[in-house]
Amino acid sequence: MLFKQWRSCVIFACIIGLPACVLNAGKRPTNKSLSYRDTYKTEDIENVLRHYNFRCVYEDGKYFRCFNCTHHIAFILESKEMIFDGTKLFLTRPVVKNPRQNRFFVAAVDVEKILKPLLEPEKIKKYLPNGGCIVIDAGHGGTAEGAKNSRLKLVEKRLTLNTARALQSALSKAGYKVFLTRDSDVDLSLEQRGQLANKLKAQLFVSLHYNAAESMQARGIETFTYTFASHPSTDRTKALASDESTEVNNRFDIQNTYLAYCIQKSVTLRLGSIDRGVRRARFGVLRHVHCPAILIECGFLSNDDEASKIATKTYQEKLVNSIIKGIQRYVHNTIMRTVVVPPTQILKDFQSKKSSLPKRPLLKSQGTSNKQTFRNPSAEVKPFCGASYRFARKIYLANFLFYEKTRLKSMGLIG
Ligand SMILES: [Zn+2]
Repeated sequence: MLFKQWRSCVIFACIIGLPACVLNAGKRPTNKSLSYRDTYKTEDIENVLRHYNFRCVYEDGKYFRCFNCTHHIAFILESKEMIFDGTKLFLTRPVVKNPRQNRFFVAAVDVEKILKPLLEPEKIKKYLPNGGCIVIDAGHGGTAEGAKNSRLKLVEKRLTLNTARALQSALSKAGYKVFLTRDSDVDLSLEQRGQLANKLKAQLFVSLHYNAAESMQARGIETFTYTFASHPSTDRTKALASDESTEVNNRFDIQNTYLAYCIQKSVTLRLGSIDRGVRRARFGVLRHVHCPAILIECGFLSNDDEASKIATKTYQEKLVNSIIKGIQRYVHNTIMRTVVVPPTQILKDFQSKKSSLPKRPLLKSQGTSNKQTFRNPSAEVKPFCGASYRFARKIYLANFLFYEKTRLKSMGLIG
């Protein structure tokens, strides 16, 4: 009897469902907006921040301010803007209020990918060790000139290249391996820039741009990260069906947010520029980058006042120094937890090296001299011979172990 009921239910579902299946089959993805209020989860701000000993107050019918002994966060009702310790960041969705309970809510994704990384950077997995590889991308180039200010004869592609070169030299002095995606006036597609960074095994990617707007009043700094999967970019309020794809760079959403925050904070403070916030967009240059990546708009060329400052040496020096300070803050505050090479692997390499070295000195008739056996420029072992051979072998192996550990540590492969 029960089976018969189930069977009739299945037949009924098929009759109702089949036409829908037939109609949807072969339909291409559209830009139809998702009913995001139904699909996204929210969290009570006070409940989230209680774990960090925050106290919250509602002010002027608009601001929801939360503070503890180290941080101050201001949320704005019905707005995506959030001010964290004086720096502006955009949430994925506006803060909403439950009028009955007088409680404030943010999207759960904003708690996980924006609030928590800012409150607990020490829990973020580090991808850039000291001395790691940074790729700097000078925006535009060749036929793509970018933004222009014809009155002051400024072109974005030239400015980004100058800033990138200065940043490369300063970061190299700070001990990083730095590469540029372009070091001359050449055309380079967005995909090529990302691919180059991946080929160079970049551990951090910074794309440099200068901004322009129709309104000549627009000015300030903004920093972009790649938009979270299934969520709207900052310039939109609703997610589209086409936003659902997860891209390579989405693996680094948390690192991206914290890196962008550190750089935006440092640049706006040191340059005294208007803070236009940390934003998200689906930029092609960031999409396929296999490491934490940001794009910074370093000021508006369309604003004559700001453009004339951008062209000065002082602005460029301050800009470069503040980007470096932002990167250093990011590196300092995140932690190294990427153990890629297990310690057993080092011991294995050591054992194989040990067995490859003969226990007794080789005879000249065997073709190789002991001098060649111990030739290791990094270990700097002086060649020994005769009775001291065993001692030289021991020193050589100890040195091998030490240099191997140091090398892997500097690459960030072991903690
Ligand atoms: Zn640009």
